[in-house]
Parts: sequence; C-alpha cells; structure tokens
Amino acid sequence: MRVGVGYDSHRFADGDGRKLILGGVEIPHPRGLAGHSDADAVAHALTDAILGAAGLGDIGMMFPPTNPRWKNADSLDLLKRAYLRVVEAGLSFVSADITVIMEQPRLAPYVDGMREKLAAALVAGYSTVSVKAKTNEGMGWIGRGEGVAVIAVVLLA
Ligand code: MG
Repeated sequence: MRVGVGYDSHRFADGDGRKLILGGVEIPHPRGLAGHSDADAVAHALTDAILGAAGLGDIGMMFPPTNPRWKNADSLDLLKRAYLRVVEAGLSFVSADITVIMEQPRLAPYVDGMREKLAAALVAGYSTVSVKAKTNEGMGWIGRGEGVAVIAVVLLA
C-alpha cells in the first residue's frame, strides 16, 4: 500500500470569461479560476496525490506550465496521463478522499458529478472517490472568496 497527499489552490480570475471547472465539472458562476491550464484545483490536488503515492514527483514536473502544450489543458486529461505513469510503475488506484474548501459558490450540488468524473478518469468506481465540500467559515483569503484550496489523500496498491 502507498499513500499520497496532494494540495492545490487557485485564485479567482478577474473577469476574463474563464469557466469555473472543479473535479471535471463546469459549475455555473460569474468567475472562473486563474491558471495556465483549466485551473481545476480538484483534479490537480488528486493528480499530485497519486504521483506522490507512487514517488513520481508532482504535476508541475510532469506538465510544466512553461510548456505551451499544457495551456488551457483539460486537467482530467492530465490526471489520466499521470495515472498511466502510475500504472506503468506497477501500482493501481484504490481510493481517494478529497476536501474542497471554498466560500462561494456552494459545491454540494456538484459533488456527485465530480466523483463520477474523477473515478472514471482513474478507471475506478464512483464509491472509491470521496469529495467533501467545506467553507472556511468566512476566515482568511478563502473566507473572503479570493479562491479555492483542495486537499486530496490517495491510496494506491
Ligand atoms: Mg493547480
């Protein structure tokens, strides 16, 4: 058994028409997150967790933001690519538990969709990927609605 933890954060972009995409789900909201890829912080934290569990570095090493190939990349595609490397290393996905911390919008209606998309990317069943949505109780930069933070824990075997 191999355990990995991943963390990611992204700030909201300033009105450039970006979509808000978390866990592969497009969420209706006036503002999207800033980033070189689609800024899907949930997919990024999960990708870092599986790479960490496998001892394969991190998402920035595998998909450098300096490489134009990954500009506006679909982060579920990055997750799939990273998982392929994990499988090549002789490991396979068992389960993930993900906490998304964001003040607005409320994510509860989208959690099931995220679980389905993330599990499918890992060729796994819905029940193996847990997504929990929390606020930061109005405290700090998350509480002020400046962005999102995500923590993911993964088990590989
Ligand atoms: Mg990121």
